[in-house]
Amino acid sequence: MLKRITKKLIGCFILPTLFLGSAVFSEDLESVSLKLKWQHQFQFAGYYAAIEKGFYREAGFDVTLIVHDGSSDLYDPIINNEIEFGTADSSLVARRLKGDPLVVLTTVYQHSPSVLISLKEKGVLGPFELKGKRIMFQRNADDAALQALLISLGIQESDYEFVPHSFNKLALLQDEPSIDVMSAYLSNEPFLFKEKGHDVQIIDPANYGIDFYGDLLYTTEDYIKQSPDRAIAFKDASLRGWRYALDNPEEVFTWLQTKYPSGKSLAALEYEAEIIKKMVAQDFVQLGSMYPARFSRIADVYKQLGLAPKSGDISGLTLDEYLKQKSDTSKQYLRALGIVSAILISLIALLVIGMRSMQSTIKKRTSQLFELNKDLTRQIELSDKHVISATIGSNGLFKEVSTAFCQLAGYSRQELLSIDPEQLTPPGYREGRNEIIHRVFAGTSEHGEIRQINKDGSSYWLHMFADPIRDENGNINAIQITATDVTEKKLVQRLSETDVLTDIANRKKLDSTLKQEWARYIRYKEVFSIIVLDLDHFKNINDSFGHPEGDRVLKAVADAITLVIRNTDLVGRWGGEEFLVILPLTPIENAVHVAEKLRLAINRLDGFPMLDVSASFGVASSDQVIDLDNLFRIADAALYTAKESGRNCVRAAD
Ligand code: GH3
Ligand code: MG
Ligand code: MG
Repeated sequence: MLKRITKKLIGCFILPTLFLGSAVFSEDLESVSLKLKWQHQFQFAGYYAAIEKGFYREAGFDVTLIVHDGSSDLYDPIINNEIEFGTADSSLVARRLKGDPLVVLTTVYQHSPSVLISLKEKGVLGPFELKGKRIMFQRNADDAALQALLISLGIQESDYEFVPHSFNKLALLQDEPSIDVMSAYLSNEPFLFKEKGHDVQIIDPANYGIDFYGDLLYTTEDYIKQSPDRAIAFKDASLRGWRYALDNPEEVFTWLQTKYPSGKSLAALEYEAEIIKKMVAQDFVQLGSMYPARFSRIADVYKQLGLAPKSGDISGLTLDEYLKQKSDTSKQYLRALGIVSAILISLIALLVIGMRSMQSTIKKRTSQLFELNKDLTRQIELSDKHVISATIGSNGLFKEVSTAFCQLAGYSRQELLSIDPEQLTPPGYREGRNEIIHRVFAGTSEHGEIRQINKDGSSYWLHMFADPIRDENGNINAIQITATDVTEKKLVQRLSETDVLTDIANRKKLDSTLKQEWARYIRYKEVFSIIVLDLDHFKNINDSFGHPEGDRVLKAVADAITLVIRNTDLVGRWGGEEFLVILPLTPIENAVHVAEKLRLAINRLDGFPMLDVSASFGVASSDQVIDLDNLFRIADAALYTAKESGRNCVRAAD
C-alpha cells in the first residue's frame, strides 16, 4: 500500500516536473514491471522502444520487463498484484468473464497472429481439409480463436485427432508424433519453416470471421482504482513506444540482438516485424483503437466454447469503460445520494412542518394552560381571600391559614401559625372542639357550628367542615378545615331565642330546649330536671319603686341565675317575673340543690339595698312524669306549694 501511495505521489508531483523537462532521478520513478506474454521478440517492440527511448521514464516509470516461459499462469502475477502490467491476447477476455479483475489498457494488435499452419505439401488448403488430420494446439483460451474456427465450420472433435502442443516450433517437421496441422504465430513459425525450405499453408481464423484482438496491454482494477492517471500515463507511454518501434524497426532489431536477446536472426526479426505491422494495422486503424463490439464477439466465442461462464460479464473490460463505469457508479451513488438527500429533505420538511404544527399546538395548549393557570391562580387568590380555611398538622398547630380566616380571627398569618389553635375557641367550647379534631385525625369527617374568639375578644361563629388529609401512604397527617362565618345567622337566631329585657333565653328557646331534652330523655333515659321560680311580691316592687326599677331587678335576677348554673344548663324567662331553668343530666335531688343556691343568690342580689328580693321555687324531673306537659304542671304545682309555704323557698314535685 505504501508503495502505491508513493506511486500516486509521484504521479501527482513528479510528473509535472518531468513534463517541464527537469532532470529526473531514478529514485523519483515508479518502479513497475511489465510481463510480456512470451520471450523477447519483435512482438513486444513498442515496450522496448518505450524503455530505450525514455518514454516510460518521462511518464515517471522505471519499467522492468519480465518474459514468460509458459511454465506458470500468465495472468496470476498481475492478478496477485506482484506485477503491475502485462500483455496478453484475447484470452484475457475469458479471464475477465471468469471474474478476474483485469482491465485492458490498450490493444496493440488489431488482429491475432494466432493461426493454424500446415506444410504446403499436406494439401490443407482450408478448414475443411482439417478433417482426419492430426492437429496440435492448446485446448485452452490461448487457442480459442482456432477452436472457434473449427466449431463455427461444423468440424467436430471426432473429425480430427487432437495432439497437445509440444511448443516445438518446427513440430510439423518431426516424425514422432507426426503432426499435420499446428497452431502457430503468423509472425514466427511460418518464417522458421520457410528458413528450412518449407512452404506452409496458413489457416487464419480472421479470414473466417473469427477475428480476435492480438496483443493487449492490461493491468488490474486495483491499480486503476488507486492510480487511474498512472494507468493512462503507462498506456500512453507504451503506445508512444509502439509508434516509435513500428517507425524504427531496425533500432528494435538491434535491441533484440543485444539487450533483449530473442535468439532470432535478423531475417526472422524482419519477417516478424512485417507480420506484426499487418497485425497492428496502423495504416487502417489508429494505434490502440478498441471496439466494445469486438470484445463482445470474442466473449461470445469463449462462452460458446465453454471456456468462460455463460453468465460472465465483460463490462468494464477496457480502461475507458472501467473508468466510465466507475464514474457511472459514482453518478449512481450521487443519484442515490440525491434521492436519499431528497427523502431526507422531505422528511426534515415533514418534521419541520410537524414540529411547526406541534409548536402551534404546544403554543395553543400553552396559552390554554396559561389561561387555566391564570383562572386557577385567580380562583386560589379568590378562595384565599374569601374562603375561611386552614390546615392543622399532626402536631395540632396550623400549617396553613387563608387570608379570610386571618381577617375574621383578627390575627396575622404569622401569629396564627405560631399560636395554639385551641386558643381561638372559648374555654367552654374547647373540650367539644378537641374531641372533633381527635375524631377527624382518626379518619372521620366532621362538621358543625363552633364559637370562636377574635383577637379583640369578640366572638364569632363558624360552621366548620373538618376532613382528614392523607399522605402517599394513606396515613392521616393533617386536617383540612373549611368554614363559613355564621356569626350573623347565630345573632339572628340568638335574638329570636333571647329575652330582650334580660338577655337570657326566651320562652320560645325554653320550649324548644325542653322538647329536645324530653326527646333525649325518652331515647337515652338521661334524666333532666327543671326549676320554675317566681319572684315574690314583685308587684309591690313595681308599685313602690317604679316599673323600670322592677325591670332592673329582673335583669339582675337573670344574671344571678346565669352565674350559678352550668354552661350546659339553660335559664330563660318564662314570662313576667317567672324564670325556668333546664338542667340536663340532673336528677331531682341535684336540681333542688341548684334551686337552693339560686334562692340564696337572689336573696343576696347586689345593687338593691332597699329591696328584699326573693323567689319561690318548684322543682321537677323528667323521670317523675310521662309527658312534657305533666313535667311542667308538677313543677308549677311545686312552685305553688312553695308560695303557699311562705315564699322564698324551694319545693320539689312529688
Ligand atoms: P306573688 O307572686 O308573690 O304571689 O306576688 P306578685 O306580686 O309577684 O304577684 P303576681 O305574680 O300576681 O304579679 C306579677 C307582677 O309582676 C305583675 C306585674 O306588674 C309584674 N311584672 C310582670 N312582668 C313585668 C315586667 O316585665 N316588668 C316589671 N317591672 N314588672 C312586671
Ligand atoms: Mg310573683
Ligand atoms: Mg308571677
